[in-house]
Amino acid sequence: MNQVENQNLKQKLSIIIPVFNETESLKELNARIIQAIFGLPFDYEIIYIDDGSADNSFNIISELHQQNQKIRAIQFRRNFGKSAALAAGFKEAGGDLVITMDSDLQDEPLEISNLIKKIGEGYDMVSGWKRERKDSFIKLVSSKIFNFTVSALTGIKLHDFNCGFKIYQREVIKNIEVYGELHRFLPVLAHQKGYKVGELKVKHNERKFGESRYGKFGLRRAVNYFLDIINVLLITKYTKKPLHFFGAIGLSLSFIGFIICAYLTILRVFTGSIQSHLPLLIFGVLLIITGAQLISLGLLSEIMIQNSVKKEKSYNIKKKII
Ligand code: UDP
Ligand code: MG
Repeated sequence: MNQVENQNLKQKLSIIIPVFNETESLKELNARIIQAIFGLPFDYEIIYIDDGSADNSFNIISELHQQNQKIRAIQFRRNFGKSAALAAGFKEAGGDLVITMDSDLQDEPLEISNLIKKIGEGYDMVSGWKRERKDSFIKLVSSKIFNFTVSALTGIKLHDFNCGFKIYQREVIKNIEVYGELHRFLPVLAHQKGYKVGELKVKHNERKFGESRYGKFGLRRAVNYFLDIINVLLITKYTKKPLHFFGAIGLSLSFIGFIICAYLTILRVFTGSIQSHLPLLIFGVLLIITGAQLISLGLLSEIMIQNSVKKEKSYNIKKKII
């Protein structure tokens, strides 16, 4: 069998890497990835998505492409965020297995073969778990709370939802839509579609150059995490069945309001006066009204979701090198 046929029989690995001002790391990262996958029985492509870098990142990626045609690139017109970068990469990826990793050298390329081994155990997606994180204290604590809460809310037993290092079967990435800040919830999105999600401990390096693109101390991240938890509630509970979500709260409030008012009615009938209970009366009526409003909000959302059109692409590509 000649070389070309051999290549065609090989499965392909796509490595997707979002890049936002990572000039210093790119060459080293690229060399280490190629070294790490050399010898694996895969054809490969590395797709860099330059998420609107203001530094020299895209030039370096272009240089890398000149040297090796398996390196491909997408350049965004501005910074659209990591989710958009991943979405563009997912769309472009032609591999049977797809790996995502960060471009700051914090993810260890040598773990790629372990991820491939793990997904071979029968998973549709395997998420890295940065067991020993090399990050700031605030980042560590907020991430612990985040992971615990998301796990409790979704029932998915993962320790590290937000790890950038993941591997997917092709079908998974072609079937999930990442936009907004959803990249933190990729395991949730996959799980929702019925895919089997696993976890693998991976080595985490310290950031060698610059600081986190989400802020040095991790405060911004802590706030984001908090908002994201509301988001996960929205994704898992609300968007599926808004009427059940709002309706349940609305009904409970109305029910308590109803009990209060019923109690006051009985009091009025038997004692003749509820003068001293006026605040309670107001509270009861308020609960009934709020409850009724929540129920109608649920109904309205249900109608909106049924009529909602598919989301627009959340990014704009300036240039592609393929
Ligand atoms: N990143 C991106 N767009 C952004 C922010 C970050 O593509 O708007 C990339 C960044 O270049 C890196 C990865 O996403 O490859 C993770 O970012 P970072 O290392 O700053 O996050 P942290 O490690 O602190 O979670
Ligand atoms: Mg990082």
